Amino acid sequence: MSQLPRIALLGRPNVGKSTLFNRLIGRKKALVDNQPGITRDRHYENITINGHEITLVDTAGYDVGSREELARQLNKVSEAALQEADAAVLVVDGLDGVTPVESSLAKLLHKSGKPCLVVVTKIDAKAAEKTPMESYSLGLGEPVAVSAEHNIGVYSLEQAMLALVASKLQEEGDKTEDDVLRVTIVGRPNAGKSTLVNQILGQERMLTGPQAGLTRESLSTRWEYNGRTFELVDTAGLRKKARIDDRVEKMSASSTIEAIDKAQIVILVLDATAPFEQQDRTIASRVVNEGKPLIVALNKWDLVEDKNATMLDVKWLLSHSLSQVRGVPTVTMSALRGKGVMDLFPVIEKLYDLWNIRLSTADINRALEGLIDSHAHPLNKSHKFVKIKYGAQLGQRPPTFGLWCNRPEDVTDAYLRYLQNGFREVFGLDGVVIRFVTKGGKNPYANR
Ligand code: GDP
Repeated sequence: MSQLPRIALLGRPNVGKSTLFNRLIGRKKALVDNQPGITRDRHYENITINGHEITLVDTAGYDVGSREELARQLNKVSEAALQEADAAVLVVDGLDGVTPVESSLAKLLHKSGKPCLVVVTKIDAKAAEKTPMESYSLGLGEPVAVSAEHNIGVYSLEQAMLALVASKLQEEGDKTEDDVLRVTIVGRPNAGKSTLVNQILGQERMLTGPQAGLTRESLSTRWEYNGRTFELVDTAGLRKKARIDDRVEKMSASSTIEAIDKAQIVILVLDATAPFEQQDRTIASRVVNEGKPLIVALNKWDLVEDKNATMLDVKWLLSHSLSQVRGVPTVTMSALRGKGVMDLFPVIEKLYDLWNIRLSTADINRALEGLIDSHAHPLNKSHKFVKIKYGAQLGQRPPTFGLWCNRPEDVTDAYLRYLQNGFREVFGLDGVVIRFVTKGGKNPYANR
């Protein structure tokens, strides 16, 4: 087997590189000490991010004499490490800021042409606030701010690191769990779930019939479409309950919940001749509350007479029963006849990509500024200003944004909804849940 993707951690001694290394590998291996230069060897450790194995290389740093001497020596060590690495992470001490040594290492990185990123450490400290902004000057893109000690920002860093070696991973054809788009199909008995699955797989994997619950096989199947791997999550629990004694299958709450938890995309199959009964609404809310992308498959469309009226009904019900999400995609189909079934796939892909979207801090703040300009937050009960100063994306799946405010507890739900809708417009985020988290205090990045 060929070598795993390799990422080198570069930086001066004592910038927090070893603490970060330990945090990433999840155990204390390298010695950490406040004495400069204690990490004497180059360490190789394999870590797993989203199921991908990566080799992390911690470069040695000896603190030697003058700054020039240190830079010379670091450049030598780093150059060697870079040569054998696929990508690099330049670690900048949040407290010290950008020094000539970092600039010199950045030059080296530019020259190598390898993917790299800047990480600013010790971001929990107040004195580190300005460093991320300062680090832009290195010309290596948006820095990732972390506190390895307090485990802040480490998840984002891992995702960014994974992106650095994405092409290498792809080269390896290394298909792991996270490349697989896990889809689950849920819905009331008889809505046509099995028929839909059969159509998708193009074969009679399961039995369907006029009575519910004929399907006994559990199912978890993978297939390829448009260069992506899809996996159908096992929803057997939904179907196999029924007995031959005509007992009507009850949708087991726990198995639905389990199926939803495992899924990345949930397709709720509705019988279009009786759409959105209480049970359907319960499932839909569950999916949305979990922050999972939801697609409504309006099945048995062939039996619907007034198609316009039905569509309007469904849209109305969707927007009124699921306030957290706007524009839930709805696909009409006749699973029985195989009509409309393949229309699901582009919708799944688009929604999945939105769910994973990563917006730049600059874009977020530009959007926020515009929205606040056209509609400022009302004064609070004591007639004080409520100001949102800064925003940044905190996470994905679903997209989650932090809003740094002077009075976070006074931000109204109505205003958050306004911002949410604004974000949907600006960034085209219809169909996925987006979350806002209000935060107090100074923003963790620099003052602007
Ligand atoms: P499940 O319980 O949700 O898995 O539902 P099944 O797939 O077993 O389908 C229940 C019944 O509805 C079967 O008799 C299917 O033939 C029928 N059915 C499924 N999809 C359609 C459709 O698009 N149009 C029509 N007319 N009947 C369908």
